[in-house]
Amino acid sequence: MKKEEVILNAKLYSAVEPSKEQQKRFGNFLKNKYGQEVSLEWVKSDAFPGGFRMEVGNDIYDWSVGGRFRQLRDTLVKVPTDNGNIIPLLKESIESWTPEALAEQVGEVTTVGDGIATVSGLGQATFGEILLFTDGVRGMVQDIRTNEIGCVLFNDDESVTQGSSVRRTGKTAGTPVGEAFLGRVVDALGTPIDGLGEIEASGYMPVETQAPPIIDRQPVDTPIETGILSIDSMFPIGRGQRELIIGDRQTGKTAIATDTIINQKGKNCICIYVAIGQKNSSVVRVQQTLMKHEAMDYSIIVSASASDPAPLQYIAPYAGCAMAEYFMNQGKDVLIVYDDLSKHAVAYRALSLLLDRSPGREAYPGDVFYLHSRLLERAARLSDNIGGGSITALPIVETQAGDVAAYIPTNIISITDGQIFLESDLFFAGQRPAVNVGLSVSRVGGDAQTKAMKKAAGTLRIDLAQYREMEVFTQFASDLDDQTRQQLEYGQGLMRMLRQKQYKPKSQHEQVITLVMALAHTMQGIDVDEVNSFIEGLIEHFETEHRDICDRIDKEGVMDDDLKQQIIDISTEYRNGIDERD
Ligand code: ATP
Ligand code: MG
Repeated sequence: MKKEEVILNAKLYSAVEPSKEQQKRFGNFLKNKYGQEVSLEWVKSDAFPGGFRMEVGNDIYDWSVGGRFRQLRDTLVKVPTDNGNIIPLLKESIESWTPEALAEQVGEVTTVGDGIATVSGLGQATFGEILLFTDGVRGMVQDIRTNEIGCVLFNDDESVTQGSSVRRTGKTAGTPVGEAFLGRVVDALGTPIDGLGEIEASGYMPVETQAPPIIDRQPVDTPIETGILSIDSMFPIGRGQRELIIGDRQTGKTAIATDTIINQKGKNCICIYVAIGQKNSSVVRVQQTLMKHEAMDYSIIVSASASDPAPLQYIAPYAGCAMAEYFMNQGKDVLIVYDDLSKHAVAYRALSLLLDRSPGREAYPGDVFYLHSRLLERAARLSDNIGGGSITALPIVETQAGDVAAYIPTNIISITDGQIFLESDLFFAGQRPAVNVGLSVSRVGGDAQTKAMKKAAGTLRIDLAQYREMEVFTQFASDLDDQTRQQLEYGQGLMRMLRQKQYKPKSQHEQVITLVMALAHTMQGIDVDEVNSFIEGLIEHFETEHRDICDRIDKEGVMDDDLKQQIIDISTEYRNGIDERD
């Protein structure tokens, strides 16, 4: 039986017909390259003045002026620009540059729709590689099959049609990074969308990177203060930690994140807020809030709103993380908020279904867990010999009717180092921030608490747990004995103490003094509605009359027994003073 032969045809486009001698040279080149006779067909074309273009199967040899310019540009891009004078380097690169008839792989779009394109003829494209479509539309390889690849498009797909050509770039998705991004709002590809002009990037980082290995990390031991009493006292967050904020819609999740960002003012911490699948109006609100509280100077907002294509929403948190890594690698501390990962998972699900992946639980693709774990693993505290920088991640997840056992919430709970659980019932009862003390936890942050805070918070969690139990048991009791009533009052007072207005972060000394005073039962007997004004007055008293105590707590972060007793004494005195006046 005769072996089946694949016949290769080459097409040569040029303005003038090649001479016999030239044709022979082409023939030899092709024979060497492909190991067989290749028939050469000449097509007259004026599109390549001063050069030619040859197509052999999927390979394209571009010797047109445009193609050679592109090669030159690619060479010059590789010239290092970080050491001073680059003119000699450029000169050298240009002098030593010889154009090559490089083969470029060019494929063809077979189908396109919903921001997804299937491309044939790019057999060597790699997963995650960026492809260039007509009109500069960019896409990313997300699916590799036997004869074609699936690619998500980052821009509008209008100019991409069936049959249009696609070029490989050999690069993976990346984002520009740098100091100039601080104070700005950008989209998932790092393009400014706040109308404040171009941003001069200091570098370009891939959006997907490996998380730092264990050897490069050190334990979490420095706090990142949220300024929210209920969190800093009971669920402290350390630099490099991943703490989930979870709750139903409209329970104050974003509020906790923005308050934390506001509280980083003057604390040498860069903040990145990534908005995924949200309304543009919500993103603008966050931006205005941050501007109003002078927090935008050290913050970046990365936004892929609900109206952006799913691929952009999918890539946004990774891009935000790449920007954070740029700062972390310089030894800086970064706080990054992903608001929120449920919408991120939904965007990824849409993408995967369009790419024909088989749906799993709740129709999410099987790798949705890996999607979030590889993102959150990039939060880290680097060891001192590589700069000691850190990324603290605050992912947000929205639950439906408080169901934390749904697929995405359970996934993310298991990847993070703890969660702050917000509850609608508490929120509507006026207990804001609506932190459910029983269900919230921070698994590593305790090590990061200052000694003063640790000592001050003492039995708060246990006291609150006892109060909750007692509250349930005494719900239907008509008359209570004195001791039980006092216990209940004490618990109610503590709950009131934990209420805190938005945009009013509390400093260390404020939190420590409040806790010490309250846990010493100083507020016993005060009407619950008066609790917050009593605390305000007390803090003012401390700040004016006992500044040294406040400064000591803020600066040293320690509190010995003497100091604790002193705080209790001053508080009791203050309380007695008020009682006498009334
Ligand atoms: P969504 O699910 O829509 O994203 P969310 O859980 O992020 O909502 P927020 O937008 O943060 O919730 O807050 C909902 C509303 O509650 C806002 O109007 C906000 O101003 C208010 N709010 C949040 N926290 C507090 C607080 N501590 N005190 C008073 N009001 C608050
Ligand atoms: Mg929100």
